[in-house]
Amino acid sequence: MISIGVDVGSVAAKAAAYDGEKILATSLIPTGWSPQEAGNFLLNDILKKLDLEKEDILNIIGTGYGRVSLPFVDKTITEITCHGRGAHYIDSDIRTVVDIGGQDSKIIKINKNGQVTDFLMNDKCAAGTGRFLQVMANALEVDVGELSELGRNHEPANISSMCTVFAESEVVSLVAEGKSKETIAAGLLQSVCNKTYALIGRIGAEDKIFFSGGVSKNELLGEMLEDKLNLPVHFNNQSQFLGAIGAAILGHKK
Ligand code: ADP
Repeated sequence: MISIGVDVGSVAAKAAAYDGEKILATSLIPTGWSPQEAGNFLLNDILKKLDLEKEDILNIIGTGYGRVSLPFVDKTITEITCHGRGAHYIDSDIRTVVDIGGQDSKIIKINKNGQVTDFLMNDKCAAGTGRFLQVMANALEVDVGELSELGRNHEPANISSMCTVFAESEVVSLVAEGKSKETIAAGLLQSVCNKTYALIGRIGAEDKIFFSGGVSKNELLGEMLEDKLNLPVHFNNQSQFLGAIGAAILGHKK
């Protein structure tokens, strides 16, 4: 029997299918203006990939901020719980999940069974999230996916503003002063790293640490976090799917 997890985030919507042993398929699209449409698209995409009908599915679990807008789900579960379960599937030794998504960041601590023991979330401020990096990438006229390679091996420019709006003006001023895009990109990533480190400091991080969410695709940021924490920070190509994977696994019960 197959279960499906649908994680509709503020920026990206993700889905995963699980057969009781392994993840069979994943799918991702921008959430866009309608969480419901994004969810419908993902469900149909997964069913198509597996050549199945909705009736063949054991359970469909919704998670993420848009979970309340999904009419087809059997149950909804918070993304904190789903991230914990997803991390446990990836590696049962993971004890801390550092999740940086489109509009929030979370530190989630889990036990050896993947159950959440503590968590802390920043959803009050865009600084330190994917949104911050998207705004800054626009100001630098590069794609958000280019920031990591751009900043690599460059001395980070000092970005002192704690607020996305002010930091954007600061970036524009730095460009006008002739600072290179490379040093500004490194500075922006250092700024997200520092904010994440401060959030981790409030709850503590236990080894193994797993970096999840769309922002974890930024390898340089992961390396900066490793340096700051003085601990290895793991991630893989399923990092953005952690919530959807956890939801699919939690749905694999009668
Ligand atoms: P949510 O679940 O909150 O919608 P995700 O965890 O799916 O968010 O992450 C979406 C965010 O990931 C976007 O804000 C986007 O800017 C960011 N992102 C995607 N690719 C990269 C990349 N290569 N480097 C940095 N950030 C990225």
